Amino acid sequence: MSGGKHARPKGTRDWMPEDATARRRVEQAFRHTAAVFGFQEIITPTFEHTEIFIKSSGEGSDVVTKEMYSFEDRAGRNLTLRPEGTPGVVRAVLEERMKPPLRLYYHGPYFRYGRPQKGRLREFHQLGVEVIGERNPAVDVEVIQLGAWFFERLGIADCATQLNSIGCRECRPAYRAELVAFLSGRVAALCEDCRTRLERNPMRVLDCKRETCRLQFAEAPKPAGHLCPSCAEHFARVRAELDRRGLRYELNDRLVRGLDYYNRTTFEYLSARIGAQDSIGGGGRYDYLFEEFGGPSLPAVGFALGLERTMMAMAENPAPARRRLAFLVCVTEAQRPAAVDLLARLRADGVAAQMSYEDKPGRQFKAADAARAACCVVLGPDEVARGTVSLKDLVTGEQTEIPANIVIPEVRALFRD
Ligand SMILES: [Zn+2]
Ligand SMILES: [Zn+2]
Repeated sequence: MSGGKHARPKGTRDWMPEDATARRRVEQAFRHTAAVFGFQEIITPTFEHTEIFIKSSGEGSDVVTKEMYSFEDRAGRNLTLRPEGTPGVVRAVLEERMKPPLRLYYHGPYFRYGRPQKGRLREFHQLGVEVIGERNPAVDVEVIQLGAWFFERLGIADCATQLNSIGCRECRPAYRAELVAFLSGRVAALCEDCRTRLERNPMRVLDCKRETCRLQFAEAPKPAGHLCPSCAEHFARVRAELDRRGLRYELNDRLVRGLDYYNRTTFEYLSARIGAQDSIGGGGRYDYLFEEFGGPSLPAVGFALGLERTMMAMAENPAPARRRLAFLVCVTEAQRPAAVDLLARLRADGVAAQMSYEDKPGRQFKAADAARAACCVVLGPDEVARGTVSLKDLVTGEQTEIPANIVIPEVRALFRD
């Protein structure tokens, strides 16, 4: 087949049937894990008013300044394809007057105009949870644990959790001033992005991945060393609860997360399979976001995981060579009516079944192979006369004649996984 003349937009991907199947499995594992932790699904729109993303990410953030897909609709409204999940959920909780405490999960497509690279697409997918209205540090740990269980369920064994605390409105200003004083003496050594961040949001500087910048940070004051007594206590209780639940973690005193709205607990999940500097996802507390949105003061904590990155971190699952699909083959057109009946019986019983309407049996076998069917059910004049069918296992090539009335259990027996 030729490649055609149209290409998909840069930063997007196609999900081939095998990829789509693998993706649905991951989503299913996520839904299941969230459900056993007491979370309920929420689905919000793919686009929102631009202002909610500016409000949540912060005017000077990379997301807002460089990465949003914003547009005016035909009535002149300023809209944006959602670059992340939390702002839409917060907006919906307030708009729908949902009653906290709430445990919500979501998954779906998100959009950022970033530099496409491995595991980072412009249309990407996230799996997220939010706990709204609970202040206890144990809740931060429940959220961290949910993520850890999800990765475990997917067989991602090498996942490491990194943890930090970035303080609150009381303790952050003094810390920020100290950090700015420290960094101002080293501006010449910082990259251009860091210089901009230094003016707009100095804590984000610590997030820079450039080696030259990171060298400068070794001596920099760290947020966890400047916590007020109540933030320090919260952080200590988070660590104690992680220990009590046997959850392993590492402290990373530079972990500040890319978004402005986090406070206190921040965490990330890392996997060696996708590179040391990059996380599969992460989250933290955001106790001020509801107020920023004009709502009541509501503590909240959550995470968002990258679906594509999660799949990169998974051990390669060899795709099953054959699908759970039975392919009917008619030796001559005279068997077609019997085959149509059998097709309906199989399908009514929940067995995926299909046939090709080519008249030559050779072509029908070829179609069965192209569909990667597990087996063929062959109907010839002799079989129909005897009340039998021939069942061909397409994995082993073995063919046996069986009574037509036991074809459903026999086909099922050939569906190995
Ligand atoms: Zn504090
Ligand atoms: Zn930098």
